[in-house]
Amino acid sequence: MSETDADTLFERIIAGEIPADVVHQDETTFAFRDISPQARVHVLVVPRKRYRNVAELAAADPQLLGDVVATARKVAELEGIVESGYRVVFNTGSDAGQTVFHVHAHVLGGEPLGLFGA
Ligand code: 5GP
Repeated sequence: MSETDADTLFERIIAGEIPADVVHQDETTFAFRDISPQARVHVLVVPRKRYRNVAELAAADPQLLGDVVATARKVAELEGIVESGYRVVFNTGSDAGQTVFHVHAHVLGGEPLGLFGA
């Protein structure tokens, strides 16, 4: 996927132009299931407003970053994984494997997760 294509993908999902399994939405954020789940629960949380990555979001609008993290917690509640635990991941840049350049948090859980790294 080229970066140009990737720029529009989540905006099109938010706009309802590309179907997605929506878990939660509110004024500032949107949460939907990952098309290729890496755990029993794998939900993506995005701000409606596009920033390329979490660093840009944190610098430009820390309150909106707080909204994203709060929605991640909301997703964990809805999925019943607050007590068992979950992981929130922001892949940032190419070494981290970021493929969609509209900042998104991966919310992963519902089963024991392996260690991550290289
Ligand atoms: P990244 O690699 O940028 O951190 O994560 C992008 C995520 O978007 C991947 O986990 C990928 O499976 C997911 N994804 C890519 N295309 C689609 C799509 O069309 N619909 C949904 N729901 N997820 C997608």
